[in-house]
Amino acid sequence: MAPHIQLRGFVDLHAHTNASDGSFTPAELVAEAARIGLDALAITDHETFAGYEEALPYAREAGLDLVRGIELNTRLYLPDVDHPRDLHLLAYFPAGTVSNTFREWLGAQQNERRERNRKLAESLRRQDVDITLEEVEARGRSITGRPHFARLLVKKGYATDHEDAFRRYLGDEAPGFVERMAPATEEAIRLVLEGGGVPVVAHPVRLSLKDPGLERRAIAQLKHAGLGGLEVIHSDHSAALQQHYAGFAQEFDLLPTGGSDFHGTVKPRVALGRGVEDNVRVPRAFLERMRELR
Ligand code: AMP
Ligand code: FE
Ligand code: FE
Ligand code: ZN
Repeated sequence: MAPHIQLRGFVDLHAHTNASDGSFTPAELVAEAARIGLDALAITDHETFAGYEEALPYAREAGLDLVRGIELNTRLYLPDVDHPRDLHLLAYFPAGTVSNTFREWLGAQQNERRERNRKLAESLRRQDVDITLEEVEARGRSITGRPHFARLLVKKGYATDHEDAFRRYLGDEAPGFVERMAPATEEAIRLVLEGGGVPVVAHPVRLSLKDPGLERRAIAQLKHAGLGGLEVIHSDHSAALQQHYAGFAQEFDLLPTGGSDFHGTVKPRVALGRGVEDNVRVPRAFLERMRELR
C-alpha cells in the first residue's frame, strides 16, 4: 500500500469516476479521498450526476464532505476569432440539490451524445471496422464517450494504443469524425444558474487563448453572462499559470477554484488531491467561499 498522505485542510474540486471517463468506481474514489485525508471532494463527471449520487452513502460513512458537481462541454464563440473554442464548464451545486429543468436539459444532452455515438459507430463500420454501438455502450456506464471507443478499437487490434485510436479513427482530425453538438457557453451558464449551481471555467489554459488580451476579453464576456468562478489550480497549470489565473479571478471578482482532474489509471500521472508532481493543493477556503456566496 502507498504511504498514507495527509491532506487535511485541503480539498479536490475536480475528479471523475467510471460513471464518465475515470477508472475508479464512486466507492473507490471516496475511499482514496479518505485515505489521503482530504477534507472535501467534488465529483465532476462529464454530463452526469450518476457517480456523485452513487458515492453519497460511501462518503457519509467515511465522514467525507462530498460536493455535487458536473463538467459540461460547451462552445465559446468570440468576436474576431474565426473558429469557436471547446470550453469545459464546471458546475457546482453546494446545496446538493439541482432543479428539474437542469436535469431535463441534461437528459437532452445525453440523448445528443448517444446520437453522436450511433453515427460514430456507423462511420467506423463504413471504414470496415467491426464495431457496434451496443458493444461500446457495454463498456461505458452512464456516459459512453470516445475513450470507450478507443479502448475497444485497441482491444480489437484496430489501433496500437489510445492515442493511435484517436489519430486513426476518433480524433477531431480523423477521417470519420462525427461532431457532437454543444451549447454555447453563455447558454450553459444560464442553465447552471437557473439550476442552483455555480458555473466555473475549467482548466482555462486549454482554451489556448495565447494572447492575454484575448483571454481577458473572453473572461469579461463570460463574467457578463453570469460566470461565477475560474479554475485557478489544475494539473495542467504551472505555478506561473496559477498566479496568472488567480490575477484574473481577482480582477473579475470570480471565485478561484481548483482540482486535480483525477481520472484514475486513465491519466496515471495525475494524483487525487495532488495533481502532477504535487502541483495541486487546493485550500479548503476555496470551497468555504463558494458556500458563502450562495
Ligand atoms: P467525447 O466527450 O465522447 O467526445 O470524448 C472526449 C474525450 O476524448 C476527452 O475528454 C478526452 O479524454 C478524449 N480525447 C479527445 N481527443 C483526444 C485525442 N486527440 N487524443 C486522446 N484523447 C482524446
Ligand atoms: Fe475526462
Ligand atoms: Fe475537462
Ligand atoms: Zn475533468
